[in-house]
Amino acid sequence: MISIQRIPIRGQAAHIHPHVSEGQQYLVGGVNSPVRAFKHVGGEPLWLSRSRAAQGWDDRGTRYIDFIMGWGALILGHNPPPVLRALRSRLSKGMLLGLTHEAEAELAKLIVDAVPSVEQVRFAVSGTEACMTAVKIARAHTGRTKTLMFDGGYHGHGESVMAGQSAGLPAVLEGSVVTVPFNDPAAFDEAMRQHGADVACVLIEPVAANMGVVPPEPGFLSHLRERTTKAGIILIFDEVVTGFRLGLGGAQGLFGIPADLTTFGKIIGGGLPIGAVGGSRWLMQRLAPEGDVYHGGTFAGHPLSMAAGVATLKELRDNPPYERIEQLADDTAEGLTALGRRHGVAVRINRAGSMLTIFFSEGPVRSKSEARAARKDRFAQWANGLRSAGVLVPPSPLEALFVSSAHTRRHIEGLLRASHTVFKSMEA
Ligand SMILES: *Cc1c(COP(=O)(O)O)cnc(C)c1O
Repeated sequence: MISIQRIPIRGQAAHIHPHVSEGQQYLVGGVNSPVRAFKHVGGEPLWLSRSRAAQGWDDRGTRYIDFIMGWGALILGHNPPPVLRALRSRLSKGMLLGLTHEAEAELAKLIVDAVPSVEQVRFAVSGTEACMTAVKIARAHTGRTKTLMFDGGYHGHGESVMAGQSAGLPAVLEGSVVTVPFNDPAAFDEAMRQHGADVACVLIEPVAANMGVVPPEPGFLSHLRERTTKAGIILIFDEVVTGFRLGLGGAQGLFGIPADLTTFGKIIGGGLPIGAVGGSRWLMQRLAPEGDVYHGGTFAGHPLSMAAGVATLKELRDNPPYERIEQLADDTAEGLTALGRRHGVAVRINRAGSMLTIFFSEGPVRSKSEARAARKDRFAQWANGLRSAGVLVPPSPLEALFVSSAHTRRHIEGLLRASHTVFKSMEA
């Protein structure tokens, strides 16, 4: 018999169910991914038990309008019927085949057809893995070791992209990552002058979504494209968020700037775990078994993820929701801006397509340092106020709200109504 000593949890919210509070002690911080702890807004993890379309419910039946949307993965909303149908059909034929199957090629083709710079795809289980693998291909191809990245970019938690941001890394990685401010071509050029000869790849979120939404300034991406081509450096677009979010072609389709390697995740898995790296055939051929860069996985190309991904990308291709969800996101941005003006609360809304971030800031936000300068206390007040009103927004000022095709005008009105109450309480 194992007896488990129950440790009382301090500061436990009264509404949390006993089994939920008990669960907190078995999970580090009560979560499996740090941002879910709501620490950035001084809150407690929210335990959801059910979700459908644009809404989620906790286990007491409290309903929330969801703008977290699986951190961007759920562009068709929670449990969209085409994806459910595909999953049921797949389940009836077997879950894990352990060998190659048709849907892997089908999903790869859907990506290749949508993204001109991609001729071949390798599937993985997370965006983290996709970014790790892309960096390895770039190093192998160039024979160089350094990765040039941008302050505020997030590329998963692989060791090669975490230098300086996590404990537990080997000293040999020190200096392997060079970080420059986003949207600063002069700083980029300076870093290239210093390190260019050792740089294997430039790794960037073409529209940043992990310092809040920060679009590239006009000319910034084309500057990177030109410089990397000239220096024989691999340009990696991390489109884990933007892929199939900013249109079928992602950010590179929107701006007309091709990457050498592209990483995907989130949307392409239709709500199931996935990651992918894609690029030209000659570059992708570096991967084993054709080449010398190792990547593999028990669950790579998992039949359920492939089925959900195929159903999602077909739906996006055949019934593109982009115009409608971008309009809803624009209405949200306009509404929040108007509320700020009405109540004398300084806000800046950064929007790209159907994703947006509210910064409680006087000035524009074009980089991580400007994002960090926005008022966190007000953001927390807003996010917590919305949560109490049944509207879920990401519990961090450096994340994005996502509008899905399951959202309607009424959901946007719900967000704006709750925001109105919060903004009113902020009036001087
Ligand atoms: C989410 C994310 C990743 C990591 O993907 P995981 O599936 O969480 O490992 C990488 N890059 C970007 C831009 C992301 O937003």
